[in-house]
Amino acid sequence: MKYVVLLSAIVLAFQGSRWMSPPAEANSAPAPLSTPTPSPRNIILLIGDGMGIAQITAGIYARADKLHIERFPITGLMKTHSAKHLITDSAAGATAFACGCKTYNGAIGVDAQKKPCRTILEDAAAVGMATGLVATSSITHATPAAFIAHVSKRSEMEEIAPFFLQNRIDLFIGGGLSYFNQRADGRDLCRELQAKGFDLYTFQQHSLNQCQPNPARPFAWFAADKEPEGVHKGRDYLPLAARIAPAFLAQRSERGFFLMIEGSQIDWACHKNNGEHTVQEMLDFDDAIGEALRFAEQDGNTLVIVTADHETGGMALLRGNDKKELKIKFATLYHTASLVPVFAYGPGAEAFSGVYDNTDLHTKMKALLKLDAVEAR
Ligand code: MG
Ligand code: ZN
Repeated sequence: MKYVVLLSAIVLAFQGSRWMSPPAEANSAPAPLSTPTPSPRNIILLIGDGMGIAQITAGIYARADKLHIERFPITGLMKTHSAKHLITDSAAGATAFACGCKTYNGAIGVDAQKKPCRTILEDAAAVGMATGLVATSSITHATPAAFIAHVSKRSEMEEIAPFFLQNRIDLFIGGGLSYFNQRADGRDLCRELQAKGFDLYTFQQHSLNQCQPNPARPFAWFAADKEPEGVHKGRDYLPLAARIAPAFLAQRSERGFFLMIEGSQIDWACHKNNGEHTVQEMLDFDDAIGEALRFAEQDGNTLVIVTADHETGGMALLRGNDKKELKIKFATLYHTASLVPVFAYGPGAEAFSGVYDNTDLHTKMKALLKLDAVEAR
């Protein structure tokens, strides 16, 4: 009996230590260990749109120091196909993460029959969790939109925007202001959000670092009228947003939070087959990952997941490359069907090891947040 207890203790300690081993930053002391927790209170899901293995590889060799993405104790691989196509778009990819269903390319939070499917953000809000969305695209763009809206076509930006009023959202940061305040229907959704209690700021008056989000009220910052310019043109808010958002949301609810942060423009750089821009976007996204990890290490109750909706460009580092000068080649101007990697750190991280489907990412997150019973209510 004694031995059984001892053995179980060793097994538990081993299991606990796997996610508790801190993702040590080079040259820094490891974070102190805290008591193992079976499930996380918070999830930060970071999506690098179009970020495949080659995009990560290029980022790794472009920076002298280790990337934050190299610090994760758990890695997995994910299949990205949509309902009928081997090659997904970002709308179907994000709907798979948000709703757990395979749908058609272009679908935002609706299933293959165009019926609205509940998102993990809605389920989290329903149990009183705080929620947040951050993107370097417009906030109504496919990836963030699929977590909060239900429309049959991703291009319907003005139909997507009102969902930010209908659903509980505590924080959002991204572009797309004009879909809120210069609409064909004449509604001013910025006014409506403010009437609902939002502290709302726009790029015209305030940069993000001039804003001081007050956790007593929901917060929104618009980075551009439509799509924010790329990081190579001075767009600098993603790592800052990744620092602000978790700390803010942690104060918005005792039940925890669900936060999605997207590095939207890795995909756009790859569509243009622009290797240099791809690396810049990759490194910017990695800085945001570092902020999420810093919060999770201190908090001890936060699961950080990093993944992609699909690979873009069929990117490759061929013969002739060296670490000093990357000469990146692309096979296509569109997405590919390659598996994408998943990285996890925090309570429940082990669940993300292995090879699985993008819809399984939803199932795993939902089970860990104990949101399985929400729909049945
Ligand atoms: Mg996207
Ligand atoms: Zn794309």
